Amino acid sequence: MKAAVFKKQNEMAVIEVPKPKPGPGEVVLKVHNCGICGSDLHAVQYGMGLKADTVMGHEFCGEIHDLGEGVSGFKLGDRVTALPFISCGECDRCRADDGMHCERTRGLGLGQLPGGYAEFVMCGAASLLKLPDNVGSREGALVEPLSVGLHGVNRAGLKPGTGVVVMGAGPIGLSATAWARARGATVVVSELAPGRKELALKFGAAAVVNPRVENPARKIAELTGQLPEVVFECIGVKSTLASAIEMVGLRGKVVVLGVCMEPDTIVPLNCILKEIGIEFIVGYNRAEFQETIDALASGKINAKQMITDVIGIEEVPAMFDSLRNPGARAKVMVEFPH
Ligand SMILES: [Zn+2]
Ligand SMILES: [Zn+2]
Repeated sequence: MKAAVFKKQNEMAVIEVPKPKPGPGEVVLKVHNCGICGSDLHAVQYGMGLKADTVMGHEFCGEIHDLGEGVSGFKLGDRVTALPFISCGECDRCRADDGMHCERTRGLGLGQLPGGYAEFVMCGAASLLKLPDNVGSREGALVEPLSVGLHGVNRAGLKPGTGVVVMGAGPIGLSATAWARARGATVVVSELAPGRKELALKFGAAAVVNPRVENPARKIAELTGQLPEVVFECIGVKSTLASAIEMVGLRGKVVVLGVCMEPDTIVPLNCILKEIGIEFIVGYNRAEFQETIDALASGKINAKQMITDVIGIEEVPAMFDSLRNPGARAKVMVEFPH
């Protein structure tokens, strides 16, 4: 089968790899869609110890193509998405729906197990969630990034009327915006790229400001009467954490969803004087995946509009190169014939 793989730092390729076979408790999906994630771009840019020919991709959706021994509750052809990891299912963390942090968990698409930039992908049956008929496969592949935003919003403890700044209108910033709105917060999005403004408004931002022209925190104060109670950092480059700290109001919270891969500097005094909290976020749980699927099915979140490009597997390496400067692009979706 064809797969898009990591070759070496800053180099992807499309190659033939063996089609997976499911072991006990596993299934093989015929992949319909797989989204390109900022983490994948980071991994290729920095190498991160990935071996040559690693199949990447952890935001996927497809139909069940092959069932391993002992799998029940699913049949061939069922359309599903999956938490992109296989955990032990037995430890305290797994039992508390925190399989992401199970000590024996193995992730898909970032080096441990092959991911979804391939015609077929092997997953754990325990990680699968069925998609209703009115949730398309492109949306199915958005459940993962939307669940990241939901997890951040859940950790922030938003209440109706909370003033929020979201830094960055990429897919994760848009997800955080949509969920913050769903919880009744007032959201100002801070974004430099003019092409992403419309998109952020569609996801429910009350205003989108260019932080070089206008202070997003002041904009929230204009709208809500006080500085932001929560700032979501969804960019993940050097100095954005310091900007988030600067913007948040007294006893507010900075929620870090952006993944900065380099040493970065903050001045603790700026946090101390305002007694702020900083929460670092990774992943999601099964309940958040299910809530996301329900929100897509009911139309509470119209996520499809974050897809700016749909490409075939052959175009993945060139797209990874162009995404070094994403411009107005948000989510790029790889699609397989289905
Ligand atoms: Zn991702
Ligand atoms: Zn476990």
